[in-house]
Amino acid sequence: MKPKILLINPPIYDFAAYDFWLKPYGLLSVAGFLRDKANFKLFDYLDRLAPFIAKQKELQSDRWGRGRFYCEKIPNLACLEQIPRYFRRFGLPRRMFENFLTKQGPFDFALIQTTMTYWYQGVAEVIEDIRKAWPKAKIILGGNYVTLCRSHAQKLGADFLIEGTNLQPLWEYLNIKPDMQQPALWEAYEKLNVGVLKLSDGCPFNCTYCSVPKVYGKFKARGSERSLAELQLLCELGVKNIAFYDDALLFEAKKTLYPFLEEVLKRNIKVNFHSPNALNARFITKDLAELMVKAGFKTFYLGLESISLQWQKRTGSKISCDELTQAVEYLTAAGVEPTNITAYQILGHPHIDIQQLEESMHFVNGLGIRGMLADFSPIPGTPDGEYCRKYVDMDEPLFHNKTAFPIILLGFDETNRLKDLQRKLNRSLTKT
Ligand code: SF4
Repeated sequence: MKPKILLINPPIYDFAAYDFWLKPYGLLSVAGFLRDKANFKLFDYLDRLAPFIAKQKELQSDRWGRGRFYCEKIPNLACLEQIPRYFRRFGLPRRMFENFLTKQGPFDFALIQTTMTYWYQGVAEVIEDIRKAWPKAKIILGGNYVTLCRSHAQKLGADFLIEGTNLQPLWEYLNIKPDMQQPALWEAYEKLNVGVLKLSDGCPFNCTYCSVPKVYGKFKARGSERSLAELQLLCELGVKNIAFYDDALLFEAKKTLYPFLEEVLKRNIKVNFHSPNALNARFITKDLAELMVKAGFKTFYLGLESISLQWQKRTGSKISCDELTQAVEYLTAAGVEPTNITAYQILGHPHIDIQQLEESMHFVNGLGIRGMLADFSPIPGTPDGEYCRKYVDMDEPLFHNKTAFPIILLGFDETNRLKDLQRKLNRSLTKT
């Protein structure tokens, strides 16, 4: 008999959360490898097309499929009480999961996706509810939190933890042989308007603030056949917006992105592509910009972080200002609206003294594109995260919170002043 497996994307406990094409892609990919070998049920607390959410007007998606999550205000945590912002639980109400468990159980296994280290309270809540309803179900955790904070995750009471990207121990634990050519299990959703693809894993750079080298290792291209099959599946399910979760989508593009997009054009597939994980502007050529636009890319997010040469060198030299300027020229010449191009800059980095953040914001604005301040989260095991031990207790993942850390480092007023400045600069673009 096939085992019955419950897949869960937990609720988020945080000051802020927004559905920026967020899908539990690791979880769905693992389930995809086991397609037809187990009976699956999915409970995604962050599914904004769930009937309970779909009725609420203020939670409607924007034209690219993004939007607000359902949330409830909850008391702030003692250790973050100096952060003057409301703390919330984002995701479907707890009672809905409790009802779901009663109706759909029992389960042999429960697979829980983890993402941000400081979201572990949502994982703990899910474990507690499963244990109460079906104590015999084996609970398995995988994802970033488990990989970056293993000893903390061990205390949550799961039966089995999967660190990093080696899934062999999981197949042995489940006693199922996977089919690694299968696409992610997107059909587990009743309704879907946003999908995710990944053409590669890892990154050739080693930026001192980033978790990718630690979690995914060196860059490795995936086979394009599987990605094309996945794209086909997403289209059959009615998906209109697809976000690439690659961390280095444009690296070795001749081997990966070019053939993929050429096939998209050949098959006349019409979807909107997005790149929420920053693209490296260094690799954008005139040809590539034209191909991306032609194949359906609608929004472009580029990683800049800082214009300071000293800061760039210290953190990994992934990009220079000239390369960003050149990429923006190629993209706009290819027909991209400048306001659909966004450059990320880190807010709250511990070396802000050499970052020239305000100058960076003005530089981006001078290119006619939008800026976005990406709040810094100190990640344990990275050089910059370890440096932050002088500011916070890095062994408590709640202190990795990206709303909290910039406020702890810079203060509430200075953080707000910089955010207001960014809003003002972006508004100036729409006026001109
Ligand atoms: S280039 Fe991007 S993904 Fe790669 S290490 Fe640097 S920040 Fe991380």
